[in-house]
Amino acid sequence: MGVKGKIAWNFMTDKVSKVLFQASYRELMNLLMSTSDSVDEINRKMKDIGFRVGETLLMDYADRIRQHAGKFHEFANTLQLAYKVNSGQEFTDIWVSSDKRSIKFTDADCPICAGVHITDMPGLQYCVIVSGVFDAVMKLRGFQAESFQESCRALGDEACTWTLSLL
Ligand SMILES: [Zn+2]
Repeated sequence: MGVKGKIAWNFMTDKVSKVLFQASYRELMNLLMSTSDSVDEINRKMKDIGFRVGETLLMDYADRIRQHAGKFHEFANTLQLAYKVNSGQEFTDIWVSSDKRSIKFTDADCPICAGVHITDMPGLQYCVIVSGVFDAVMKLRGFQAESFQESCRALGDEACTWTLSLL
């Protein structure tokens, strides 16, 4: 077992059916849609939910991560690993700005948006829960940063992108 196997072992996590997750997420989104007055309100609520999910995830993994990111830009790798552990796939692209104050994560095959096509709610950030998770990780790790979802496949964009920037 090489290094890769060792890491995989340490981060082995319980699995749940993708269909179950996607259906549950869709119903959560439907509920937010029917109980919110605007797209902004839906986005905000889903991001808040993501923040709480992120708190739980970070506490669950805190004990198992031996090397925490020390500098902001190192979260490019840390969050890639966390994404892989929780979604079973990697971000298709990660871009770090030259001043190392912004990281852009891209998934051209976002598992949350798979099979979802929304045409009548411009501005909706369908998978903004990911931004909320990023925000929680930043806050709990002591960084003043904010995440923003820039594009979303469910709304017709080519890929889902979430940008994380130091404030
Ligand atoms: Zn997405």
